[in-house]
Order: sequence, then structure tokens, then C-alpha cells
Amino acid sequence: DMSGDWLPDWLSRRASGMPNQIAVKGKTESLTFADLYRQAEEIAKRLASLGIQAGDKVAWLMRNSVQTAVWIHALSRLGVVQVPLNIRLTASEIVWQLTDVEAKLLVFDDIHTEKAAEIGELLPSLTQLNRNSIGELPFGNAVLRDRIRLSDTYCIIYTSGTTGRPKGAMLTYGNHWWNAIGSSLNLGLEKTDRWLACVPFFHVSGLSILMRSVIYGMPVIVHESFDPATVNRSIEEDGVTIISVVSHMLFRMLEEQGDRPYPDTLRCVLLGGGPAPLPLLEDCERRNIPVVQTYGMTETGSQIVTLSPEDAIRKLGSAGKPLLPAELRIELDGQILPAGEVGEIAVRGPSVTIGYYNRPETTKEALRDGWLHTGDLGYLDEEGYLYVLDRRKDLIISGGENVYPAEVESVLLAHDAIKEAGVTGIPDEKWGQVPVAAVKLTENQTVTEAELIEFCRKQLASYKVPKRIQFVDQLPRNASDKLLRRLLADLFREEAGAR
Ligand code: ATP
Ligand code: MG
Repeated sequence: DMSGDWLPDWLSRRASGMPNQIAVKGKTESLTFADLYRQAEEIAKRLASLGIQAGDKVAWLMRNSVQTAVWIHALSRLGVVQVPLNIRLTASEIVWQLTDVEAKLLVFDDIHTEKAAEIGELLPSLTQLNRNSIGELPFGNAVLRDRIRLSDTYCIIYTSGTTGRPKGAMLTYGNHWWNAIGSSLNLGLEKTDRWLACVPFFHVSGLSILMRSVIYGMPVIVHESFDPATVNRSIEEDGVTIISVVSHMLFRMLEEQGDRPYPDTLRCVLLGGGPAPLPLLEDCERRNIPVVQTYGMTETGSQIVTLSPEDAIRKLGSAGKPLLPAELRIELDGQILPAGEVGEIAVRGPSVTIGYYNRPETTKEALRDGWLHTGDLGYLDEEGYLYVLDRRKDLIISGGENVYPAEVESVLLAHDAIKEAGVTGIPDEKWGQVPVAAVKLTENQTVTEAELIEFCRKQLASYKVPKRIQFVDQLPRNASDKLLRRLLADLFREEAGAR
């Protein structure tokens, strides 16, 4: 079959076309594309001896490392559908996902031996494999893929579960391909590019960096976990040109970096995953850091709307325009809204998921006519730039006015004494709902509730000002470190009950 649905295997091509180019570089280990290809092939062949076949679901529980990258490519060579698991989930949360996805095998690294044992107790029927024992397996009979069918499912990634139960988003080879192409058409592609991955490979943000590596022929600098000092040093020493971060990582990197400038080689700090607080963007502008905002989600294989580097300053606060292969519109009750009006963000294009695994109803609700309804609210300006406001489910309506928690949080975060902030609505007799906030203080700093409310009053219309502010040691977050606003209201209920 020579139709347009097929491409030569990306890794095979890179291994033959640029065998000596670095593919993955870690702290102690570094692999060329030829090494990566050879090691992935060996793993795929041995794995086949377990009877694992193309189309089977294989879940994995691994921290970022060079070997994790090898495994990801090995699974793809064998044609299995891989299911990356968030390592911060509890054993029972993982068991739920393994069952939901009908996994045939669970592969784990040494670090997760204990968690794998817990999972085994809860789900004894599932076959498990410590990846270090792969060398003990014989070669099995398997036809390894040397061509890619774009419509085949590459992976199933569970969403972060911020708004409810996680959903298994199916992403095809084509989704990843178009995502990588769209990204490069916006950010450009340079021979010297090296992308730093300190975001986990089990999230689409990290996995998509590995896809770009084999599609572009580009080295990836792998970090096992996020440590601001190590990342800052690596940017200098490894000649990093692009790094993907979420805002709390960037905050900590800037804090650690102090007054030192970043090297000129760093051409893009891709900031996504959640709302970007304006004070952070302004700080980057002042310090000449090439930060580029992006908007995307598991269902879109990472970025789908990204600011172009040229617009980074002029459109500060915007998530940018849809990548070339994607379309974007703002909808409300089935109507397409003009510029300036707030509605639900809908996206369409070849990087958008084909649906949620085993969830035809949810899929039908989210995907209509090819348009993915994201559940996020936003608007376009006159020039077509997207501004993401917040999740529809988190919207607070107070006296008929819309309050976006992210906007209020952003104001609170600009206060020196505030390290983290979460805003939600609680029922109110007079206004229907009123905003309230929970904040975590910066070490060695103090501030009173009244002072904070006064600080907000200066910058926000009165209906947006939190009516109560609670000081907490910890904000409720999920395994992806995302704020669980739906749990914040409990803090105020408990307080009311205690009074
Ligand atoms: P679930 O779908 O299970 O509730 P989740 O939506 O948090 O979890 P992800 O796919 O990891 O799971 O996150 C994507 C979401 O992150 C987007 O839908 C959006 O709400 C938020 N997000 C991503 N980028 C931005 C951005 N630039 N600005 C604001 N929000 C963003
Ligand atoms: Mg979501």
C-alpha cells in the first residue's frame, strides 16, 4: 500500500541517515540515533517473546531517563499501543487506568519496584516486567514495523484529571507527526537545536519532545526530574536552544538564576500546561528571556496554539495563533462568536485526538464535526490572537458578572508574600456566588487577610475581589501538580462548619 497514510519509520530513517547524531543525552549516558535504533530493536524483539503483539496495550511506569526513551521507541517498533502512567499516581489510581485501558503488560523501572508490587497485589492477573530483566528474555517472533501508518494509534494518554476522572485520549502517529510539523513551522528548525526535556515523558508535553527528536533528527537533553539549578546549568553546558516548562518551573528557574543572564543560544522557553501569570511574563520580558506562551492539552498532542517568537512581547499574555495545520474558533451554544467575545475554545486539525478510549459518549460530546470542544473559555482579539481565560467548570458567576479564577490568582501571585494562590467560588445568598482564595505564603513573609484584600481592591473590580482569604500550607493539587479548584471550596465549608 503506497497511499498517503504510510511513512517510513522515523527512527529507522534517522538511524540510517544520521547515525552519529546524538539522539538522547542524559546525565551519564548519551545515545546516537544508530544506538537508539539498535537498542530499541533488541528490546522489541525480546519483548515479543512474551507474546506481546501489535495493537496490544502496554502500560509503563518510568521516570525520565535515556533508557525510558529507548523503551518508548521499542514499544512503537513493535507496534503496540503504549500507555504512559503518571508516576505520582497512587497504586489504586493506576489500577483504575490499567483496567480501563485493558493493559496486557506493565513495564516498570527499578525506582518503581515497590509501587509495581502494590499494583500487583490489587491486580494479580496483569503481567508485569521490570525493564532491567529484558536481557534475560529470548528473542521472540515478531515482525518489527519499518513503516508507520499515520492512522494507527501510537499511545493512549490519560488526561490529568483536573476536572474529573482522567480520560484516555488516543493519539495516532499522524497526530504526533502533525504536531511536530506544526511546532517547527512556527518556531523554526535549526541545525543546532537541542530540546531540554525536564517535563515528564509520561505527559504529552514530554512525549512530544521525543517524537520531534526522531522527526527533526534533533538531540533531546533528558532530565530525570526537575531541579532548577541543574536545569539552569544544563541550559549553559548542553547548548540547549529550546526548553518546555510549566509556570511553576519557570518561577523556580528564574529565582535560582538570579541576575545571571541566560546564554544567547537559548532561543525559546516554551511555556504551557496552564495559565501563565502576567507578572511572570513581564519578569521574563524585563530580563530578556525568550518566553513563548502556548496552549494545548493531552487531546491535541501538546501545543495547538502558540505565540510566535516575534509576537512574544507585543502580545504578552496571549497564547498566540493556531499552528499552521490547526483551526480555532470560539463557540457559545453552537454559535461561532466574533472577536472580543468570550466563549468555549474549539480546535480542529490533524493533531487532534481521534477520541477517548472506550468512551463513545464522551467522545461524541467533545468531538463534533471534527471540532474538539476543549472546556476552556477564551476569546480572540481583532488580529486573531487567542487569550485563554479559564476552564468553563471553574467559572464563577457573581451577581451576573463573570469572574475568572486565573485572573484573580494572577493578581495575588504578584504580591511578594504569596507563593501559591487558588481561587474558587462559594455560594452566596446575595450574589449567587462569590470568589474566595486560599494562599500559601512565601517563606519568612507575612501578610494579613485584610492587607491582601486591599491589595486586590487596587487592581480588580470589586466583584472579583476575594471575600475571604485563607492561609494554607498546601493547596490541593493532582498528580500533575495542577491546582484542584473543585476541592478548594471544601476549605471554606470546613471553616464555616467549625465556626
Ligand atoms: P482533565 O481533562 O482530566 O480535567 P487537564 O485538562 O488538566 O485534565 P491536560 O490535558 O494535562 O489535562 O491539560 C490541558 C489543560 O490545561 C487545558 O485544557 C487548559 O485548561 C490548561 N492549559 C493548557 N495550556 C494553557 C494556557 N496556555 N493557558 C491556560 N490554560 C492552559
Ligand atoms: Mg482536559
